[in-house]
Order: sequence, then C-alpha cells, then structure tokens
Amino acid sequence: MKKFLSVVLSLFLVFSLCACGAPKQDANYNGWYTDGEINITKKQVQKIVNGEFDTPKNVILIIGDGMGPNDITLAEEHANGVYDFGLVLNQIKNHGLATTHSADNAITDSAASATALSTGVKTNNDYIGKDVDGNDLKTMAELAREQGKKVGIITDEDLSGATPTAFVVHNISRSNTKELTNAMVQFKPDVLMCQDYISVSSLLEGEARTIFENEYLVAKDFKRFKNVLDTDANCEKSFFGFLNGFSTVASYNLAQCTEVALKRLENDNGFFLMIESSGTDKYGHKNNMTGKLNSVVTLDRTVAAVLKFMSENPDTLLIVTSDHENGGVRLPENDSEKLSDLLTVTEHTAADVRVFAVGKGSEYFSGKTVDNTDIGKFLIKTIKGE
Ligand SMILES: [Zn+2]
Repeated sequence: MKKFLSVVLSLFLVFSLCACGAPKQDANYNGWYTDGEINITKKQVQKIVNGEFDTPKNVILIIGDGMGPNDITLAEEHANGVYDFGLVLNQIKNHGLATTHSADNAITDSAASATALSTGVKTNNDYIGKDVDGNDLKTMAELAREQGKKVGIITDEDLSGATPTAFVVHNISRSNTKELTNAMVQFKPDVLMCQDYISVSSLLEGEARTIFENEYLVAKDFKRFKNVLDTDANCEKSFFGFLNGFSTVASYNLAQCTEVALKRLENDNGFFLMIESSGTDKYGHKNNMTGKLNSVVTLDRTVAAVLKFMSENPDTLLIVTSDHENGGVRLPENDSEKLSDLLTVTEHTAADVRVFAVGKGSEYFSGKTVDNTDIGKFLIKTIKGE
C-alpha cells in the first residue's frame, strides 16, 4: 500500500512538474492582475517606516542607476503621477549619503560600484564581481544561496548589465555580454527578470541554453506573469520574466514585477532581492531630465510595493541607494529655468548618492556619509545573520 501511494505521489509530482509553465487559455484576460498602481496612503507609509521590525530574514536592495540626490529633490517637485503626498522615499526617516569612487577612478562605473555593493570590496571600473587582482569575490547572490536563502534579481534593462551581473557572477569586463548572459542563466536565481527576451535567447548557448529551455518557468507576456501567481504558483522551477511584454505604461512595470517577485520569493529561510531601476542613468546619458524624473517615480512605486510587503513581513530589511550620480544635475536658481537645462554633463560624476534604509538596524545609515563598500558590508552581515 505504501509503495502504491509513493508511486501515485511520484506520478503526481512528475505530472505537476511537466505541467508547470504550460500555456493557460484565458480569453477574458485583458490586463494586469492588479490595478497597476501600488495603492498606499501617507498614513500607511508612515506607520510602516516608523514601525517595529524584527531581525531581518529578507534583504531587499533597490538601486537607482545614476540617481543623484538632486534627481530625488526635483522628482519630489516636478514628477507627474506621484502620490499626493510626494515621494514615498522621502517619508523614510533613516537616510544618509554614500561615496561611490572605484579603486582606480574618482568616478565609478556601474560595474565597480555594483561590485562594491555586492561584495563590500572596492574594485576597478569595468570589473564584475572581481577584486583589483582579478580574483573572484563572493557575490551577494552566492552568499545568500550559501545561507539557504532564495535569490531574486530584477532589472528593467539587459540581463548582461553591470548592475545585475555584479550581484551574481564574475567577469573581468562588463563588455563580455555573451559570457555574462550565459553565466546569469546558469546561476539560476529563483526569480530573474529583465527587459528583453530576444536579446537573452539570442546569446544563449550550450548548457545555459539547455537550462533556459528546461529548468525555467519563462514568462514572455502578461498571461504567463499572471499564471505564475495562480496556475503555476506551486511550480518549483526558477521564474524568468521579461518586462517588455508588459504594460505600455513603463513607470508601472518595475513595481508590478516586484510584487510578483516577492510572492515567489517568500519562504521560511528568507531571500535576497536586488532591483535595478535603470532609467536615471540611461536618460542622464541622453540629456533627458524628464526621463530621469519619471525613472525616480518608477523606483518610488517599487519602494511602495516593498513597504507594503514589509507591513506584513517586519523581518525584512530594505536599502535604497544608487551606484553613482549621472548628469551633474543642479537645482534651478529660479522658477523660469527649464528642466532640460539642469543637466550639466551627460556622464557619471563623483557626487555622493543618497542611502535610505528601513528595517532593524537601519539607523546605522541615518545622518551620515558611508562608503558604498559599507553598504555592502552591512548587507553581508545581515544576510549572514551576524
Ligand atoms: Zn551610465
């Protein structure tokens, strides 16, 4: 009888594994599973950020690539569609600044800065998860997995980007796009999300391609993203979602993705989740201040999604920061100045960036300037439970 039961059980398991990811017909479905907005009031935000927190089991790091202090100041004043009380970010009471220079340059690139945040170690520009001598450093995703935690990586840009890759893999150059893409897929984070399906699938080869095709639950469109929370909710495979099949309103995407990721990642041992909002860098290079401010709003909505999660999961630590400033953005001297005149360069600068922290121990960052490696060290300690 016991044997019979175990045969039935294993058949059931095989069936459910095969079925996971199968397309589901849903003719009536014509939109996102939520309203799109992350509904939260000022009162709710204040209750969460001023609330009591437990020792963190979950660690969430949100990075606004190229998001300088003045981007946040200007977004508070100008960006459309922000909550009626302004930015959620500015309700966070524990905040300070961080220096960002790399080992070989006063002005860091995203590779060296993300490596500093991921490993707590300074390295050269262009290096991904490597020290100045080219040795592998333990990335935050590797550490989290070693600690029995799930791993989530979300970027609204390419999977091979310096920011997401430096949290997971190692490479002597951020330009080795093909190697980086294959290594990211082979690491198999529990949740992986990036911009574009074609750019990933065209670069995969060998073992990484086999893994991508067989061991991931892939969502290229709305329907699959929706399924992952209902019909595929019990599927154990890693989830790989692509953002460009999503809403046409770009500023809603990252927050929605984050809600899906948080539901997938929740577990008894906790998780590490890195989320990159890349527009503050991309639009800085394009001399587009409006694009930059919209990207701050994108990030801010994502912060709201995480705070909502934290209201039910007080054993979570959230840090929001940037890898470097971009654009040398200045504040206007009078009301008649155009937003487009506030960018002084279209490159990264050496300016300090903001750091916001919510959760147990977050007062460490309050009212002072730390180095980006200190943020990394703090996160590493938290993940290790020290
Ligand atoms: Zn850049």
